[in-house]
Amino acid sequence: MKTLLPLACAATLSTGAAQAADVVSHGSTEAVMASQETFTGAVIYEPLLPANELNGHNTGMVTFPPGARTAWHSHPRGQTLIVTSGHGWIQERDGDRIEIRTGDTVWCPPNVEHWHGATDSSLMSHIALTYFEGDTNVTWGELVSDDEYALTK
Ligand code: MN
Repeated sequence: MKTLLPLACAATLSTGAAQAADVVSHGSTEAVMASQETFTGAVIYEPLLPANELNGHNTGMVTFPPGARTAWHSHPRGQTLIVTSGHGWIQERDGDRIEIRTGDTVWCPPNVEHWHGATDSSLMSHIALTYFEGDTNVTWGELVSDDEYALTK
């Protein structure tokens, strides 16, 4: 498990050594198609910023076309989602579907199984801040079936 270091130590860390803002230009990181083992549909993942020793989470943009969604999954230390475009759904096991829209911010608590994705009629993009416990920030389960997805309507 990673430990947050005191700020005074940051100057000795490779990722914290600069003590200055690190601007990653939009488009400078390679977007990839998300795996069909863990996502349904043509989902695009754009890495924005890797984790460092101080923040403990990576940051990525995920874009879901209509009908696309994650598989069931959980996060050992939770996840923050910021919806940047369109609207979508998030649902926990045995929970109600919740609609999320552009500008909404969502906290996914640790170790709670859920999925998130677009609605069946709108795309949805969100920035995901996904917190690490050791080398892991997500535990994947099975795909959300078409029947399960349909039940969210
Ligand atoms: Mn999640």
